[in-house]
Amino acid sequence: MWVLGVPARGKQIIHDCLHEAILEHGYSDHGAYQRIDTGCTPFLLFLDKSIWQFEPSKPYGESGSLQLGDEVFAVRFTRYVHKSSQRTEGREDEELHSFHHELSDLLDKWKSTFTDSASQNWPLVFPQFMNLLYWNVTDIEYHHLSSICRDILKLPIVELPMEGHGRTIVRPRWTETEDSFVVEEYRVSIAINQELSTKMKLIALAHELSHYVFHYVYLQFFSQFSLMIQQQPEIESFIAGRLNEKWWDGYRNTTELRCDIITSLFIVPYQLDKMLEPIEKKTFSIPFKRVTPDGQRLVWLMQHFDEDLQVGWGHAEQISMEGLMSRLQARTAQYSPDWPLFERLANCVFNREACMKALNAREDKITEQLNKIFVELHKMASTAALRRGTKKLLRRVTREAFISELASGNEYWDPVILEIPRRTEIIGYYPLMPAPYALSNSDAEWTSWVCPLKVPSMTLDKWEEHLAREEKGLMLYPLNPVDIYLRSQYLSRL
Ligand SMILES: [Zn+2]
Repeated sequence: MWVLGVPARGKQIIHDCLHEAILEHGYSDHGAYQRIDTGCTPFLLFLDKSIWQFEPSKPYGESGSLQLGDEVFAVRFTRYVHKSSQRTEGREDEELHSFHHELSDLLDKWKSTFTDSASQNWPLVFPQFMNLLYWNVTDIEYHHLSSICRDILKLPIVELPMEGHGRTIVRPRWTETEDSFVVEEYRVSIAINQELSTKMKLIALAHELSHYVFHYVYLQFFSQFSLMIQQQPEIESFIAGRLNEKWWDGYRNTTELRCDIITSLFIVPYQLDKMLEPIEKKTFSIPFKRVTPDGQRLVWLMQHFDEDLQVGWGHAEQISMEGLMSRLQARTAQYSPDWPLFERLANCVFNREACMKALNAREDKITEQLNKIFVELHKMASTAALRRGTKKLLRRVTREAFISELASGNEYWDPVILEIPRRTEIIGYYPLMPAPYALSNSDAEWTSWVCPLKVPSMTLDKWEEHLAREEKGLMLYPLNPVDIYLRSQYLSRL
């Protein structure tokens, strides 16, 4: 008699499945056994009394046999294989050719057609991204995905201390023509919280990458708001009127749900899920802790959260059970971006199809609404029909409050407006950012954002005086954490 080694992290549920599957082969807990350590986690999958063997070289679903000692077991093959036992943490440059050949082929194709700019690559990535998800059979880990982002999509990934898990940043890149500055293209980057575990970083990066793939057009659109308001302050109230609080709630719900669903495909990849489906109907009557598909999904989901022990098994089982029940009742899945991350991802893992149903239509609607605003703005601006309103889109801050925020190391991701007192009417905003050689946000020296080399750096007090004559307010562009990091990198090389 031989015994398979199961990793400690496999926990009770794996033990129970294993035990059940080998019972009829005469296994008993007594006696001396020779141990086979496969080095893979896992090597076999026990589902609905069939044994699946993970074997990358065999077509999915093919039948075969596995001999262990004197026993022969009927198995079917599937191609999901972990290589974690050989992997050492932080090997960022690990080659990508270890993927299954369909995935490697896709990445080779991307490599040969993509350019050096993430914004230019976007129209190529968008229609093909689902292929990456389709061919990912769990072999994409964090260091792979960040390498795909950096080396193929040309999307820089910056790991730094920050609030939250991650962030996608889209900012205009300016170029100087003979008489003016124009937006040449958009710079896209992704920030990932450096404090996260490697598995949580994969979740964070998959989420942010989805924002780039599915929402780049929106992010580019939003990055123009402050520029438009700078030129013509009336535009702010107009846009804020169209995009009210309810609209932003709907926007957030739709876009976050999209990203969580895509992230769930990095936890329970599409092909694995398909493998679980046929047995779904048969197993819901079996007591829950047995080999249910949801139990298996749960194991995969938990592996990502286990490291930090953030979620207890009872809690996870309850969510899994609710997922199962809601599928049985064919309810439309509920979702809120305000739930904790585990709940959001569990919801997407267990109710993926219900979650996905209306998403394309909802995103099309957002695109349509944003385009309509641009068309309306174009018409109104040309007929001077815009009126000053009271609705706000950007945050206002007093100089005193702003300076104390800077001193306390506040994180800024969006521009803020400093209204200058004593102005009767503001005819535009002057864009300022910290002086070129400042290592971080500083209240000392600010310089014009679009043409830093042609104007002096001055304190905010001085700028206020300077702009008083022109009746302009100040649009402040504090450095976001990624900018601060990149500046310090750049300056340290000088
Ligand atoms: Zn998000």
